[in-house]
Amino acid sequence: MAKKKNVYFFGEGKAEGDAKMKDVLGGKGANLAEMTSLNIPVPPGFTISTEVCAAYYENKKKYPAGLEEEVLANLKKLEKTMGKKLGDPEDPLLVSVRSGAAVSMPGMMDTILNLGINDEAVLGLAAKTGNPRFAWDAYRRFIQMYGGVVMEVPDTAFEEAITSIKKARNINLDKDLSDKDLKELVEEYKKIIQHHVGKELPQNPLDQLWGAINAVFGSWMNERAIKYRELNNIKNIKGTAVNVQSMVFGNFGDDSGTGVCFSRDPSTGKNEFYGEYLMNAQGEDVVAGIRTPEKIATLETENKKIYQQLVDIKNRLQKHFRDMQDMEFTVQQGKLFILQTRNGKRTGAAAVKCAVDMVAEKLIDKNTAILRVTPEHLDQMLHPMIDPAALTNARSLTQGLNASPGAGCGRIVFSAKEAEDWHTRGEKVLLVRQDTSPEDIGGMVVSQGILTSTGGMTSHAAVVARGMGTPCVAGAKDVQVQGKKVNIGGKTFKEGDWITIDGSSGFVYEGKLPLAVPEISDDMKTFLSWCDDVRASSVRGSIKGFEIRTNADQPEDAKRAFDFGAQGVGLCRTEHMFFEKEKLIHFRAMIVADTVEKRKEALRKILPLQRKDFFGIFSAMEGRSVIIRLLDPPLHEFVPQTKKEIAELAAYLNIKPAKLLPKIEKLHEINPMLGHRGCRLAITYPEIYDMQVEAIVLAAVDCIKKNIPVDPEIMIPIVVTARELKLIRPNAEAVIKQVLEQEGVKLKVKIGTMIEVPRAALRAGHVAKYADFFSFGTNDLTQMTFAFSRDDVASFLPTYLQHQVLDVDPFKSIDEEGVGFLIRNAVEQGRQVNPNLNVGICGEHGGDPVTIDFCFRAGINYVSCSPYRVPLARLAGAQAVINNTTPGPVNKKASTGKTEKVRKAAKADKPVKSAKAKTPGRTGKRGTKAGTR
Ligand code: ADP
Ligand code: MG
Ligand code: MG
Repeated sequence: MAKKKNVYFFGEGKAEGDAKMKDVLGGKGANLAEMTSLNIPVPPGFTISTEVCAAYYENKKKYPAGLEEEVLANLKKLEKTMGKKLGDPEDPLLVSVRSGAAVSMPGMMDTILNLGINDEAVLGLAAKTGNPRFAWDAYRRFIQMYGGVVMEVPDTAFEEAITSIKKARNINLDKDLSDKDLKELVEEYKKIIQHHVGKELPQNPLDQLWGAINAVFGSWMNERAIKYRELNNIKNIKGTAVNVQSMVFGNFGDDSGTGVCFSRDPSTGKNEFYGEYLMNAQGEDVVAGIRTPEKIATLETENKKIYQQLVDIKNRLQKHFRDMQDMEFTVQQGKLFILQTRNGKRTGAAAVKCAVDMVAEKLIDKNTAILRVTPEHLDQMLHPMIDPAALTNARSLTQGLNASPGAGCGRIVFSAKEAEDWHTRGEKVLLVRQDTSPEDIGGMVVSQGILTSTGGMTSHAAVVARGMGTPCVAGAKDVQVQGKKVNIGGKTFKEGDWITIDGSSGFVYEGKLPLAVPEISDDMKTFLSWCDDVRASSVRGSIKGFEIRTNADQPEDAKRAFDFGAQGVGLCRTEHMFFEKEKLIHFRAMIVADTVEKRKEALRKILPLQRKDFFGIFSAMEGRSVIIRLLDPPLHEFVPQTKKEIAELAAYLNIKPAKLLPKIEKLHEINPMLGHRGCRLAITYPEIYDMQVEAIVLAAVDCIKKNIPVDPEIMIPIVVTARELKLIRPNAEAVIKQVLEQEGVKLKVKIGTMIEVPRAALRAGHVAKYADFFSFGTNDLTQMTFAFSRDDVASFLPTYLQHQVLDVDPFKSIDEEGVGFLIRNAVEQGRQVNPNLNVGICGEHGGDPVTIDFCFRAGINYVSCSPYRVPLARLAGAQAVINNTTPGPVNKKASTGKTEKVRKAAKADKPVKSAKAKTPGRTGKRGTKAGTR
């Protein structure tokens, strides 16, 4: 049997195909190898596979047999290629040891540069290069990184030493330190290590190499890497690879430098070369945001030749990978090297723009474009901006870089911990810092925005904020954090004070400015129209299309949703209408009335008001179907409670308050949610639904008479048995008939039911005899299937999730195996009785991408969600169509395998285990089958 290959020299291993290569070599390693094969100038090196990382952790941190020999053989090959030897006292080879998993986790794991240098080699390097300053700088950087990462010396110790020597020499920048200063600093650093660890910095380069390899594999399980994977739902990848690569030096002098660039603007998506660089600096200087870098356009004037090479390479890479590239480069003495390329992270706006432009450029097809934009991206684009009206009066305190778009306002906090503390107290916070580092992740997540005083567009704060869709203003020089205070443009603020930032413009404002939601851009419209086409042309057996509706109770909501592209109203609740003060008193009079006549009299007063509400919604939807749910909440909720309410009602009825008390007592319920509500009300008080049906039909008639197209549907809530509908439906039909005859108008009004009680789902075949449509009320259905009170679940659900008793919050994503089972059963039974049964879901789940995927597979005709989720649902619906009907794997990103994994694990009632599970193909099996039911 051939021995398993654990180490790949750059340029090898291509034969296995791209996806596999990334799994084994990690994203960084795979792309370094790929670029080597494309003859792009990459410093040579080799990759230790991610499988070694997995084996290392499975085997109590022991490496697989033979690994050491394999690494040494590759090192030999590298030394031969470079014509230098690691640790050579005359002409040493220096290498970097870099982490890199299959999914990019920027800055989360460790990297060590300049490895192989020691007390002797530094002298050789100085002599050979004729640049002692450079050699000593390389050595001190190595000690600082190795000391921090491998020997776990706190970085502050080194920083203090460097600050104090700069102070003593009266200089500001690291680059102004002389070779003598640096030599002194090296001695100081070595002492610091001895002091903190009680051990010396290893001089033997092979000891250094293994120390670094161990540390990189170790960083896979460091706290921030684990947290990052958790937050980004990165599961199912083996571990990190380790890349050992010969060094190139951007800190060689003024003809050297280093930078980061993007083939398109990652903020706007514009097809413009974008990036930053620093001369005479090493990689981490740019990323860490310590010095503020130059714009890439400046390079064109500074060094036209290098700039042109870089442009050529970015064009080639973008064409090769068919996506926007994020590249790291270094120039050593006028020669350009590429150190990394990956598909660039981007804002929502950029994702949409890139997708639309790349289709126009014939770089990708429309389906690929649809899969490139995530629902989160769209969500981000609907993020608030500062209300333009408020902006005209607001004066900004200062302006920084517009690092991540959207506006945010919150109370100032200065640390991740403060952010989390305020956040747990239910406060909105805004994190203000000099710069951020990976330890701040937890605080960044809970912040409304991030404001930093140093660092560029590619600084940690900027990159992470963009990824999270959190507004960020970076590098705002007039922001000076001093302890627990911050001076912003001359004004002092303390913890807890409100500020507002605009990550799209970079402006910072005092106080709490009102935020507004932006319009949909033309690119977004084009993009979403492609999504609509994909959904409209989808076929599942006899079911054509997959629609997106909205939940809207008010005409303004319906209007907004319509603008966002909703194809109808899936749920219009009528209870708010009753809770409005003018109607409430009539309704209260109705429920305490002694006779049917008195009840009808009270309802008569509500009718015209309801009629007006319905008219508003119908006209907003311009002929699209609108499902109106008849009254649902427990009667209990309408009962007057306070003395004042009782007195008001008594006055209205012209009786003594005391007379009302026995009635009120009787209406009181112990468990109202399971009490006298929904269609139960229509069984006991048929007049209520009769009045509502009348108002609906009258409103529809009003529309018709005004030439407004209209398509009303009536929905009966909380049905548990077909017999309820058997009783209620004829009543409603009679009212409809009567009103239409009296008005002389023809109109078809569908009557359907909400399926939200498990019993109704189980008996759906019977229920369907009296229903033209089903709409799954998944909030209640989940609540009743689990017997989890939705309002009280917070007391135990987090623990359930933590212990993997449940994989996901069932109120967020549908519980496919339980609630989903009921839904599938109901759809199947219902369609057997009524093949044309239109089926949808309403409830929070309707805007959840994972649930939308399920709905498509379950043969559901439409999902209905809140207005702001509509664009996202249009996209998620299209992705569901593509992912479930296109043969072959379409979307190979590890993190998007989520749905499948959660589902598989759920099938076995097992927790989702990430490490060992194989990435399943996205499609095939579940194929188009779902639709045939
Ligand atoms: P991260 O994942 O944090 O970006 P990297 O492994 O990419 O870590 O490295 C950190 C920095 O060091 C980057 O700026 C990178 O370009 C630079 N770097 C890594 N390897 C080399 C090398 N062989 N020569 C020069 N610079 C390097
Ligand atoms: Mg990198
Ligand atoms: Mg309900």
